[in-house]
Order: sequence, then C-alpha cells, then structure tokens
Amino acid sequence: MSVPRTARAPFDPHDPLGIDDLLSPEDRAVRDTVRGWAADRVLPHVADWYERGELPSLRELARELGAIGALGMPLTGYGCAGASAVQYGLACLELEAADSGIRSMVSVQGSLAMYAIHRYGSEEQRQEWLPRMAAGEVIGCFGLTEPDHGSDPASMRTRAKRDGSDWVLDGRKMWITNGSVAGVAVVWAQTEDGVRGFAVPTDTPGFSAPEIHHKWSLRASVTSELVLDGVRLPADAVLPGATGLGGPLSCLNHARYGIVWGAMGAARSCFEAALDYATGREQFGRPIAGFQLTQAKFADMAVELHKGILLAHHLGLRMDAGTLRPEQVSFGKLNNVREAIEICRTARTILGANGISLEYPVMRHATNLESVLTYEGTVEMHQLVLGKALTGLDAFRG
Ligand SMILES: Cc1cc2nc3c(=O)[nH]c(=O)nc-3n(C[C@H](O)[C@H](O)[C@H](O)COP(=O)(O)OP(=O)(O)OC[C@H]3O[C@@H](n4cnc5c(N)ncnc54)[C@H](O)[C@@H]3O)c2cc1C
Repeated sequence: MSVPRTARAPFDPHDPLGIDDLLSPEDRAVRDTVRGWAADRVLPHVADWYERGELPSLRELARELGAIGALGMPLTGYGCAGASAVQYGLACLELEAADSGIRSMVSVQGSLAMYAIHRYGSEEQRQEWLPRMAAGEVIGCFGLTEPDHGSDPASMRTRAKRDGSDWVLDGRKMWITNGSVAGVAVVWAQTEDGVRGFAVPTDTPGFSAPEIHHKWSLRASVTSELVLDGVRLPADAVLPGATGLGGPLSCLNHARYGIVWGAMGAARSCFEAALDYATGREQFGRPIAGFQLTQAKFADMAVELHKGILLAHHLGLRMDAGTLRPEQVSFGKLNNVREAIEICRTARTILGANGISLEYPVMRHATNLESVLTYEGTVEMHQLVLGKALTGLDAFRG
C-alpha cells in the first residue's frame, strides 16, 4: 500500500513553523498593509528620528495611520475598523518591527485613550472624541503614572474635587506617551468615590504637558509630564462607566495584549538583521553564519521568536473568543518582552561592533525594549500577577 504524499512547503527561515498558515486572507491583508506603510513611512527615517530624539511628523503619521484603520483598530463604530484581536496584534507586530515608538503611539491612542472612552465614556463623549481619534485628527494620551506612584497606582495623589457641578483636578502625571501632542488626555484621579477617569481637553486652563527629554529609550516617541493645576471641567467630563482602579487596569490589559505581539516585531527585525549580516560577513575565510556557535544563536533566537508569535496568536484567538484572562496577558507580556530583549542582545553580538551602530536597527530595538519591559506593568508586576494566580497568595505587599 502506498503512503499518500502530502505537499510540504519548503522550509522558510522567516516562518519556520508555518505560522502564516494560521492566518486568514483578511489577516494577511491587514498585516501586509501595515508592513507596507511602515516600510514606506517609518523605516527610511526612524534612525534619524531616533538619533535626534524626536518624532517630527507625528501628526502626519497619525492621520495616515487613521486612514489605514490602525487607530482603535479592534473597536467598533465611531469610524473604528472593527478588526479582530488577531489582526490588531499583527498590526502591532508590524509597527514595532519598525520601531517601538510608533507602536507605542498607536497603542496609547487606540488601546488606552480610545478604549477608555469607548468602554467607559458616555455616548456624548464617544461621539465627541472617537471619530476624530480614529481618523488621527486628535491624538489622545492616558495619564495614570505619577512621579511617586508607578507600579502602585492605587496610591495616586492626583485629585478631582467637586465644586458645584464642576470637577477641579490637581496633580501631576509622569512618563505619559503622546502627552504634549494630545488634544485629549484621559486622566485618572482620586475622588470621594474612588479612582475616576476624566476626558480632559488639553486646551483647558491649568493643563500643561512639558515634554520629557534625555531619554535613551523610545527616543522616536513623545513622552511628557502632565501638570494639572486647578483644571476645571464640567460635570460631564467624568467617564461615567468607570469607578475604581478596575477601569484603568482593564485599559492597560488591552494595551499590553498589543505589546505581546509588538515585542515579537522588534525581535523579528533584529533576527532578520542578524541573519542578513551573518550570511554576508566573513571571518576566518568563511561567512560567520557558518560557525556552529553562530548557528546555535540563530536556532535559539528562532525558537523563542516563533514560540512568542504562536503565544501571541493563541492569546489573540482567546481575546476574539472572549475567553482571554488578564493573567494570560501577563503571561504573554512577561515572556515575550523578556525573550525579545534576549533576541535583540544576541543579534547585537552577531553584528559585532556594527551591532552598536544606528546603521542597523538592533541597538535601537534593544534600548526601546527596556521601556517596553517597564511600562504596562514591569516584569516583577507580571510575575506577581502570575504568582498570585498560581499559588492563590497575594505577594504584592511583601
Ligand atoms: C517611555 C515610557 C512611556 C510610558 N508611557 C506611559 C503612559 O502613557 N501612561 C502612563 O500612565 N504611564 C506610562 N509610563 C509609566 C510606566 O507605566 C511606569 O514606569 C511603570 O508602571 C513602572 O512604574 P515606575 O517607573 O514608577 O517604577 P516603580 O513602580 O517605582 O518600580 C521600580 C522597580 O521596583 C519594582 N517593584 C515595585 N513594587 C514591587 C513589588 N511589590 N515587588 C517587587 N518589585 C516591585 C518594579 O517592578 C521595578 O522593577 C511610561 C513609561 C515609560 C518609560
């Protein structure tokens, strides 16, 4: 009896597990659109932006991202694309393969600021902000972290007090992506009823957003302080659907889902740069890719890269099915950002001295990922989330 022969595709070093086969034609179309946009509009310039420590065409880029449906991508209505979680994840991967700063801008816009308004805002707030944010005409930021309160936002000091029917906000937020270019800031503050969120138009008197400079990571990204000095807002500026820390934490969960994918984009870029370099670079009379020690690095990098993408895809399917748990997102963020950094560092060694040059993307990604490791919950916070879920014991307070 003859054994039926199955058609096997040739081994693809860029997709060794055949993960592409898991994607629908629509998924691939989204991925290719975002990849093409990033190749045209980001990759030719990003090393220069990074070196100068600025993102000069941010507003133009935001409108273009709006035009391709990348802002608030998985949200429905109000001009949003209504894409699947997997498609949103693929977009994050492609954006971060260009630069984590661009992906951060998109994550904060869509998964933090727009998501907060979409999920917790009134119909009037949604109508007012979301269509213009989806089009990239208005940039949003998300103010949770404070100078003295990062991992423990429950202790935040920013306050919103009632004055008649108005609210008056006082306090400071720190490390806020998109802060000084935002038209609306979603600001979280203590009130008599616990933490509440506010949609703050950034031209409100008393609001300012000085940009933070001297960063050695996420240099092609705008990061700012938010200063709230007697910011008076009408009663309807509060997001009616969120009371307590669950509101901002659910937004962060959504954004960190995108990071699970995005980090693998930075890692893929470094892997590909190293593979290209190692096949062309010769030492001891042969390409360095031919040395066993270099091949061990490639094998290990590829294993972690594609395991990470599979994990992201798995979480995406769960998000689309409505079964994704926050602990599973912590699992993904903890693993994928940590492994992405390892891949970037290994790639850096393969490029030798050239690995530290901005001529190659490797060091840029590696330094960017240091921020990605810290924001949206540090490694330790996600270890504690998982530790609590695994043991049933809460170790957050020692
Ligand atoms: C480039 C960039 C952009 C950012 N964008 C935003 C934004 O748009 N909006 C926003 O709100 N925030 C933003 N952040 C802030 C980010 O979310 C915080 O930096 C992060 O939550 C960590 O807070 P922290 O820096 O105050 O560190 P800390 O909370 O002070 O932590 C310092 C260290 O102590 C550890 N630690 C703290 N508590 C414990 C514990 N119980 N057990 C063990 N270890 C512990 C931490 O894991 C960490 O290693 C951004 C940060 C960066 C770098």
